[in-house]
Amino acid sequence: MRIDSKKLNGPCSCGRDHTMNTRAAVIEPGVLADFERYLSEYGLSGTRCAVYDENTYHAKNLVRPRAGQEIVLNPEHLHADEAATGEVLRRLDADVKLLVAVGSGTIHDTTRYCAHKLGIPFVACPTAASVDGFCSTVSAMTWGGYKKTMPGVAPELVLADVDVIKEAPLYLALAGVGDILGKYTALADWKIAHALTGEFFCPTIEGMTRDAVRAVYECCEQVPKRDPKAMEQLTYGLLLSGLAMQLMGNSRPASGSEHHISHLIEMQPEKLAVRSSALHGEKVGVGTAIASGVYHRLAELTDISALVKPYVFPGEDELFEFYGSRLVPAVLEENKNNCMDGVTPEMLSKAWPKIREIISEIPTQGELLTLYERLGAKKSLSDIEVPEDRLELLLTYSPTVRNRMTLMRIKRMLTV
Ligand SMILES: [Zn+2]
Ligand SMILES: [Zn+2]
Repeated sequence: MRIDSKKLNGPCSCGRDHTMNTRAAVIEPGVLADFERYLSEYGLSGTRCAVYDENTYHAKNLVRPRAGQEIVLNPEHLHADEAATGEVLRRLDADVKLLVAVGSGTIHDTTRYCAHKLGIPFVACPTAASVDGFCSTVSAMTWGGYKKTMPGVAPELVLADVDVIKEAPLYLALAGVGDILGKYTALADWKIAHALTGEFFCPTIEGMTRDAVRAVYECCEQVPKRDPKAMEQLTYGLLLSGLAMQLMGNSRPASGSEHHISHLIEMQPEKLAVRSSALHGEKVGVGTAIASGVYHRLAELTDISALVKPYVFPGEDELFEFYGSRLVPAVLEENKNNCMDGVTPEMLSKAWPKIREIISEIPTQGELLTLYERLGAKKSLSDIEVPEDRLELLLTYSPTVRNRMTLMRIKRMLTV
C-alpha cells in the first residue's frame, strides 16, 4: 500500500488548501530491502545517519538501511528528552545530510527533534504499529521532566516494513488499535463542535480519518494472530490518521475527549494521585470506552430544554486543589481563551438533535468492551493502573487539559 501526498495536497472542497509535508508512506512486507530504490525515487541523497535503540537494532526480520553512520541508543530509561536528543546531536558526524529513524515513537520523536534542530530531512521506518504519531510535525517530548510539545519536522518519506512490524510485541499493536478506535469519539467531538458553533470542518480530512478507523475496525480481530494483512492494515490506518492530522495542521481529527482522559492521567495531577505506565494507545482505548458510555447516556435525553444552563469553567481554587501548584499555571494558560465562550443554552438546545445523531455513529461502550475482550486489550481503568474510583475526577477535569470543544466539555451545560 502506498499513500501519496500528490493526491492529497492542494485545494479542497472545504475551501482550504491543504499541505502534507510527508511525500509518501509505503506500507509493505519487505519494503526496507528496497530502501535505496525508494530514497533515490524521492531524491533523498547525501550522507545518512540511522538512529535506533538496541531493541529495534536487533528487531526480527529487520533489513537495516545502509547508512554512513549508525547511532544505537540504550533502550533502558529511553525517552524523547534532553538526554536522548543531546546524545544524538553530540555523536552525529558533521557531514550528515539525512536522518533515518528506525524504531518506536520515542526514536521517531528524538530523531524528528534533531532533524528540526539541524534543518535536515528525515525518513521514518516504524518498527511497531503502536501509535499514529509517526508522521507528526511536532515532537512529543519530555523536557525538564514535563511532557511537552516541541518543534519537529514531518518525515519526508515513511517506509513501514510489515515483516518487521508484525514481529513486534503484541501489546504494541493492541495499543495502536486503541489509538485508532479513539477516532470514533474524536471525530464525533469535532462534528459536534462544528454543529454547535460552525467550527471549521473538512469532509475530506474527516473521511480520511474515518477510513483509518474503518480499516482498523475491520482487521483488528486478526491482529492478535499477527496476521500480516491485518498488521499491514493497522499500520496503514495509523499512518493515514497521522497524515490527516498533517493536512489539518493540528490534531483535531484524531484527538478528542478520549485523548484528554489519557493526557490527564499522564499529567499526574495532585488530587488524581495516579502513576500509570500504560502506553498511550492503551489509555486512549480505555478513554474511548469511557467517553462512549457518557456520550450514549447523554443521547438518551430527547429534550434538554429543562436541563440546559450557561457554561461555567471550573474556578481557579477548584483547579488549584485538583491540579496542584505545579500544573495549574499551564492549565489556566491553555484555557485563557475558553473555547466555550459564546456558546449559549439556546444554541445547545437547537443543535441537540444533530448532536444525538452524531453520537449514534459511535460504537456503544458495550460493543467496544466486547471487542477489547476478544482482542485481549486493556479495558478498564484498573487495567491501566488507575483506581476505578478516579472515574468522576477524570470526567470532570479531563476537558480542561486542552482548550478544545468536546461533548465532555459541553456536558457542563447540562444538569445531569
Ligand atoms: Zn479540506
Ligand atoms: Zn493518539
